[in-house]
Amino acid sequence: MSQYQHVALIGLGLLAGSISLAIRREGMGAKITGTARSKATRDKAQELGLVDEVFNTAAEAVKGADLIILCLPVGAMGRVAEEIAPCLERGATITDVGSVKRAVADTVGPHMPDHVHFIPSHPMAGTEKSGPEAGFASLFDNRWCLMTPLDGTDHSAVERLSKFWTSLGANVEMMDVDHHDLVASVISHAPHLIAYTMVGVADDMTRVTKTEVVNYSAAGFRDFTRIAASDPTMWRDVFLNNKDATLEVLGRFTEELFALQRAIRTGDGDFLFDYFTRTRAIRRSIIDAGQDTDAPNFGRGYDHIEEN
Ligand code: NAP
Repeated sequence: MSQYQHVALIGLGLLAGSISLAIRREGMGAKITGTARSKATRDKAQELGLVDEVFNTAAEAVKGADLIILCLPVGAMGRVAEEIAPCLERGATITDVGSVKRAVADTVGPHMPDHVHFIPSHPMAGTEKSGPEAGFASLFDNRWCLMTPLDGTDHSAVERLSKFWTSLGANVEMMDVDHHDLVASVISHAPHLIAYTMVGVADDMTRVTKTEVVNYSAAGFRDFTRIAASDPTMWRDVFLNNKDATLEVLGRFTEELFALQRAIRTGDGDFLFDYFTRTRAIRRSIIDAGQDTDAPNFGRGYDHIEEN
């Protein structure tokens, strides 16, 4: 049996909404149940048709499900895992979409009974929006989903979950849990922290007025603000739960920043030129890998382009 018959979504925000819409787009025919913390989100998810049935508790939502996906902030997963553990069907697969994998493995894993397959996942796809209305069916198309199966996990269960992510449009790669956290820290977590910092700095620079920051933002700052508008709960939990890898990357970042600062101070144009040539090539390889558009200004349209 390759397709899941009943998918339970625990948390009904951007990721869960997108999973539901992608399941429907692919005509998988799975029953979808779900739950969220607030009544407002549960009602909205039902109104949008993201779930066939919505329940007040996670324990009720997982009953009869052969695939359970935890779509919650990382810091909430352990408690929810404890709640659902006694209600899980024999042979069910439990996965998650959390941006950190060691903390999920360590907080969810111990609650999982022997008769289920717990396989952490991280679809590397998202936006700065949150909530059930933010979901869209194509979120996973041509994006990577990193799966981090733990030692001793049943191979056929891993294969089945991998096929599920692939059928939602994602490319799947298997990765060690701790290596995942380092990779995620380089490509996502540290860049988010840097964006948060840059927007915070601009906000603190009282010599530059808020109106100037807003009006002239297309000069580069705007691209930081998109990232810095990401969900505060989600990102608080990411940093609290991927502490070591993030601090390691930020240490490296600080060293590079000092090197660039020194080059500016000493007028070392060759250093700056070579550095920026190397980083431009990285952007090129992301485009060549089909992970972003080659259109100028991220394809926003020429009438919006200002000098940067
Ligand atoms: P979201 O849109 O904010 O949705 C989160 C959902 O979790 C909401 O339904 C919320 O319910 C529920 N929730 C929050 N705290 C809870 C708690 N303590 N107990 C029970 N339910 C709770 O978040 P998302 O963007 O879908 O992110 C979900 C997960 O995906 C996170 O772990 C994140 O790290 C990961 N992820 C996110 C992205 C991204 O770009 N957003 C990308 C990849 C992975 P209420 O609405 O009722 O509060």
